[in-house]
Amino acid sequence: ATPTALMVASGRGAQLGIFLKGHQALDASREVDTVVFDKTGTLTNGALDIVSVSVADGHARDGVLRAAATLEAASEHAVAKAIAAAADVDPDGVDAFVAEPGKGVRGVVEGRRVQVGSPRWVAKGAAVPADLARDRRTAEAAGQTVVYVSIDDEVCGAIAVADTVKSSAAETVTELRRLGMRTLLVTGDNAAAAKKVAEEVGIDEVVAEVLPDEKVARIERLREEGRVVAMVGDGINDAPALVTADLGLAIGRGTDVAIAAADIILVRHDLRSVVEALGLARATRQTIR
Ligand code: ADP
Ligand code: MG
Repeated sequence: ATPTALMVASGRGAQLGIFLKGHQALDASREVDTVVFDKTGTLTNGALDIVSVSVADGHARDGVLRAAATLEAASEHAVAKAIAAAADVDPDGVDAFVAEPGKGVRGVVEGRRVQVGSPRWVAKGAAVPADLARDRRTAEAAGQTVVYVSIDDEVCGAIAVADTVKSSAAETVTELRRLGMRTLLVTGDNAAAAKKVAEEVGIDEVVAEVLPDEKVARIERLREEGRVVAMVGDGINDAPALVTADLGLAIGRGTDVAIAAADIILVRHDLRSVVEALGLARATRQTIR
């Protein structure tokens, strides 16, 4: 892009809450033919609510929830915020806190090792009580996200949370498809929850239960196929994918890490900004001619 084109696009963009980091962003946005969306916080509002809490025999609901909430108070994840809000906890109640992107969190709470995260990660190498496994299946079939809680390596809780799809999501996807773009949803969440959102917004390609580096690999593969890929995401876990894509767009109240990794910052929560951002380069070119 010429300096003038960049200037014009930047001015227009700023009015729409769209910030371009440089001329590469403008050049790439003209060529994009594939748009990959993160799910939580990007296609959905990311304000999750707890739907149900199940605990294993011999465990008190309050105790399990308090241990999980204490641990999650140290995490920025959307799932964490829902769980942390469920109990009044000591904000400094965790020692040896570790967040594993795409998996969950672990740490020591009141002298006990606590883990909260994806069922696959938490249940690794541990037995899962049958009633928890059953409640997980029921909740996932309903499109909810389920995390397991373990205390001292014993899986003792299943917490189901639910999110809502952004009101701007379906029309944004429709518009992108009308423009001839291929759309994909790539998420670390379970397949049923991913499918539910995809159906609601009109995306037909879904890649679920992937770790952050597998999101990167999927984008690399699309690029090898000759696609010019835009990635839209909001979280720390999206940063590697935002960098790998031809064009990375960080949306809404994105984390600092996502913002640093992106080429374009969309300040608004509204997904129509994606269409506007991709249209900026085209519009600018026409104006300048
Ligand atoms: P997404 O692709 O939907 O943004 P992530 O890659 O961040 O999801 O996480 C994938 C899964 O890992 C989540 O659905 C959840 O099961 C688990 N997870 C990640 N971080 C946390 C956390 N802080 N607390 C609980 N579970 C987590
Ligand atoms: Mg996200």
